[in-house]
Amino acid sequence: MNSTQYTLLKNGTVVNADGERRTQVLIRDRKIVQAAPTLTPPADTNVIDCSGKYIFPGIIDPHTHMGIPIKNGWSADDFESGTRAALKAGVTTILDFTILEPGQTLTESVAKRLKQAEKSHITVGLHCNITRYERSLLKEIPALIRQGIKSFKVFTTYEEAGMYLTYGQIKKIARIIGKHGGLLMVHAEDNDIIKAATKQFSGRSLTHPKYHALSRPPESERVAVEKMVEIHQQTGCPVYIVHLNTAAGLETAKAGGLLVETCPQYLFFNDTVYEQPDGRMYVISPPLRKAVDQIALWEGLLNGQVDTIGTDHCPFRLSDKPEGLPFEQIPNGMGGIETAFPIMLAKWLQEEWPLPRLVQLMSTHAARIFGLYPQKGVIKAGSDADVVIIDPDNRRTVSQSDLDGRDAWNGYLGLEAVWPAG
Ligand SMILES: [Zn+2]
Repeated sequence: MNSTQYTLLKNGTVVNADGERRTQVLIRDRKIVQAAPTLTPPADTNVIDCSGKYIFPGIIDPHTHMGIPIKNGWSADDFESGTRAALKAGVTTILDFTILEPGQTLTESVAKRLKQAEKSHITVGLHCNITRYERSLLKEIPALIRQGIKSFKVFTTYEEAGMYLTYGQIKKIARIIGKHGGLLMVHAEDNDIIKAATKQFSGRSLTHPKYHALSRPPESERVAVEKMVEIHQQTGCPVYIVHLNTAAGLETAKAGGLLVETCPQYLFFNDTVYEQPDGRMYVISPPLRKAVDQIALWEGLLNGQVDTIGTDHCPFRLSDKPEGLPFEQIPNGMGGIETAFPIMLAKWLQEEWPLPRLVQLMSTHAARIFGLYPQKGVIKAGSDADVVIIDPDNRRTVSQSDLDGRDAWNGYLGLEAVWPAG
């Protein structure tokens, strides 16, 4: 399409966070020029009839990990393949994470990751991982925030992987981030609880993936979230809990004023999948939980307790997680970016839940929290023309062909999905 030509999306139902209405959307040069119930387009406008279709703002996935180094190579997606899959599923923006290498400064880690992201097909933003506590790194935070890197992620566990920070260190970091107008993102699982639980099973060559879940008990989330509430209240720094997945964690986070993200894997699956023949492929951290936690998360989506849905997209091939590996050696992670929005939308339409709420969860809230609004996350004049056109009848279960030849394993095969028009 010639980008200087006008395009009119005619007679579609635009779904924004504040409601749905019949709207004509005029686009030019990748921007929305006008969005109104009626409008008169210029003479040579390219018209796309959207009758009977929904038009959503582009989906924003605030949590992805493209191209992650593992023991014998890389995870199954890099920025090129991952964002190609994302686009097909309605995702027009991802927010990925830097990887802080030994000896690197935060600024260097951002520059390296931005370079890797250049081959992306969609908009890519970055959160900055702080996985070491060093004075010199902390000094970089204010300048990074001024340059637009405003969200920083810390881990309350992963001691062996060299990413763990103590609650005391995290509090000091939160003070700096809060003072300069940034946001703290937290992987919240209490390290001591995990260490104690893992001790019972580790080193015994136990290969059943259920031990992964047993070694990371749900209590570890509640305890870590409780600490984050204290840090939020003591420092004033906004705190966003990534991939929250337990009922108790959700209750604690919301009572304490934290922002909450959850992921499709915690909504659609529980720890019974570890009994399946491919159970090892669902080894992710935090692990899948109980049915009661799933219920609380679904309720949280509807009652406003959950703010965003991210995927934690980090796919692996079957060969990356061979059978017979001791549970503590199975690479953690699974893919989901190519199915997240289609399966959420199918569920939403089936339940007849209000679509603006889904837009909030999968686009607008992330845009607001991460400073992209109103350029992203809404369909209105002046915003980017990141739009997803949906035919509610375009319903088809997830199949291997949705992976487009990528060799990643997919945990969502067979689920109901409603796909963007392309
Ligand atoms: Zn993650």
